[in-house]
Amino acid sequence: KLQPEEKTKQEVKTSKKSAKIAPVKIPATASEIPSSVPYLLIGGGTASFSAFRAIKSLDAKAKVLIVSNESLLPYMRPPLSKEVWFVPDSEKKDPLTFQQWNGSEKSLFYEPEDFYISPKALDENPNGGVAVARGWKVERIDPYKKIAYLEGGHEIKYEKCLLATGAKPKTLDVFSKAPASIQKHVSTFRGIPDYVELNDIIKETESIAIIGGGFLGSEMACALARRAKVENANIKVYQIFKEPGNMHKILPEYLSLWTTGKVANEGVEVISNSEVQDVKLEGKAVSLMLSDGKQILANKVIVAVGVDPNTDLAENSGLEVEPHCGGYLVNAELEARSNLYAAGDCSCFYDVKFGRRRVEHHDHAVISGRLAGENMVGAGKPYLHQSMFWSDLGPDVGFEAIGIVDSSLPTVAVFAKGSDKDSPKAVVAESNDNIRSNVEANSQYKPSSVSTSQNQPAASKDQTLPPDEYGKGVIFYLRDNMVVGIVLWNVFRRMTVARQVLKDDKKYDDLNEVAKLFHIFDE
Ligand code: FAD
Ligand code: NAD
Ligand code: NAD
Repeated sequence: KLQPEEKTKQEVKTSKKSAKIAPVKIPATASEIPSSVPYLLIGGGTASFSAFRAIKSLDAKAKVLIVSNESLLPYMRPPLSKEVWFVPDSEKKDPLTFQQWNGSEKSLFYEPEDFYISPKALDENPNGGVAVARGWKVERIDPYKKIAYLEGGHEIKYEKCLLATGAKPKTLDVFSKAPASIQKHVSTFRGIPDYVELNDIIKETESIAIIGGGFLGSEMACALARRAKVENANIKVYQIFKEPGNMHKILPEYLSLWTTGKVANEGVEVISNSEVQDVKLEGKAVSLMLSDGKQILANKVIVAVGVDPNTDLAENSGLEVEPHCGGYLVNAELEARSNLYAAGDCSCFYDVKFGRRRVEHHDHAVISGRLAGENMVGAGKPYLHQSMFWSDLGPDVGFEAIGIVDSSLPTVAVFAKGSDKDSPKAVVAESNDNIRSNVEANSQYKPSSVSTSQNQPAASKDQTLPPDEYGKGVIFYLRDNMVVGIVLWNVFRRMTVARQVLKDDKKYDDLNEVAKLFHIFDE
């Protein structure tokens, strides 16, 4: 149970002027944070959340301390670039909930406040529990002495420790070197405080420019354009990026270009093949001078140009950072050093099947957090279960993916005409779960059903179809003629089949036959 002094509700403090989540430290003083714990999780995100679930399921009385430099309890990030924007503010009881596409309301937080125990009570509680020290930063670890040092010097001795520090948004020099009067209009977007602030600002915004063509930029552009529609607001949304089409690093060129058309249909003015070269202030807006000579006026600029893993602890803790993928170097069991693990966005792990990787997606944080948690209790298991990810560009276009999906690899794709049933909205309405990695477990397409059906219509391998023919499909990514990745384009509940195709480790002469396993021609 919470100590009285900690009953600080996670409410958005709104003054007449602005909505903000003020940074707080809970508990307020380091002396209330245990100085010794069996399990220490650094970071308050999804990987930590998943790790404590795994630890508690194997060791019910475990005492777990999370130290997070966020002021909030662990929450999920995916709805922040999607569902939170799709309903008018007036229809929400609590701004930190969101409506799934079938209308049911859900909290962004994984667990309510009273699920957690106070850090002060952790040591004495015979049944253990999970405590979160919020607003506190870990500055250094001594892996040999097994001590983590908080800002201000407070020491926490651990038996097992997890690094789950996630990633921080990158920015661009053209903005970070601009005068403060311009920087006031520019921000990155990563968490609930960013959402609360932006949600407030856009009420008085006429134009917003999103820089970046990846996951975040593309999802936010679609979500904000939809928000403008549902609020009947006159907000112009621009998306500016240097690639020819949206999600160009993932999708094959033709599909990336097709997707850009869809994003434009959502009401976004997409400016591709372009970079911001210079900025200047013009009244209440920033003027963006683009490499193609265009000039855009925006009251608000969101920079979504990728993330850097948070590995600040590495240098003074004697930890190794992988030079290519940039995360804490860990083995297949997710160990960085003895009794010290890393999971989620910040870890560069050894995938027994596909080699060294770092993955920046929700389900990876869940899977790797769980594996690290299991191993902290002594399971000694390697990383074998592939994570998946999904992305939705509004309720009507979405995809799910597994393995290595990199548009620089050769791809083979099979498409079929889509219908209203082939949309993220339809799958969430049916499953009542917006976290789509959870939906996989309940799929009716079990791996046992993987057999080539004889009575399927012939699939056509075609990448130059008329524009309206990319309704749904399966895209195979090949390395040395082996399928190493699969995108299910507006095709849902088939991830178990995709996982099986990757596991099978076969060279296929005819991927049309493999595509039939996904039943994309079924009504
Ligand atoms: P994080 O969630 O970043 O958590 C890291 C935590 O560590 C934070 O609490 C941070 O404050 C804390 N921390 C860092 N350093 C320290 C320190 N020194 N001391 C204490 N605490 C520290 N993925 C998908 O697959 N599908 C999606 O649809 C999707 N949508 C997304 C939408 C948005 C808006 C964003 C931002 C991301 C989205 N992602 C999505 C990516 C996904 O959310 C991340 O991959 C995931 O959050 C990674 O989890 P993590 O626990 O590794 O890191
Ligand atoms: P990203 O890596 O997906 O995209 C980065 C984009 O930044 C590129 O497409 C490019 O347009 C742009 N860029 C990079 N360097 C640039 C430069 N120097 N100048 C101009 N443009 C440049 O990252 P993101 O879209 O910023 O997303 C942030 C994080 O959140 C990522 O980890 C991403 O995986 C995660 N996320 C995932 C999902 C999802 O899985 N559905 C959704 C949202 C966010
Ligand atoms: P699995 O054991 O069926 O398959 C693991 C993969 O690793 C296969 O491709 C297999 O061929 C390969 N493999 C096995 N031993 C290997 C070795 N020694 N060297 C190289 N490769 C090897 O496991 P799975 O179905 O991937 O599930 C793994 C774990 O994840 C299980 O604990 C399971 O309960 C859990 N799980 C999670 C989810 C989810 O979160 N969505 C869903 C299903 C299963």
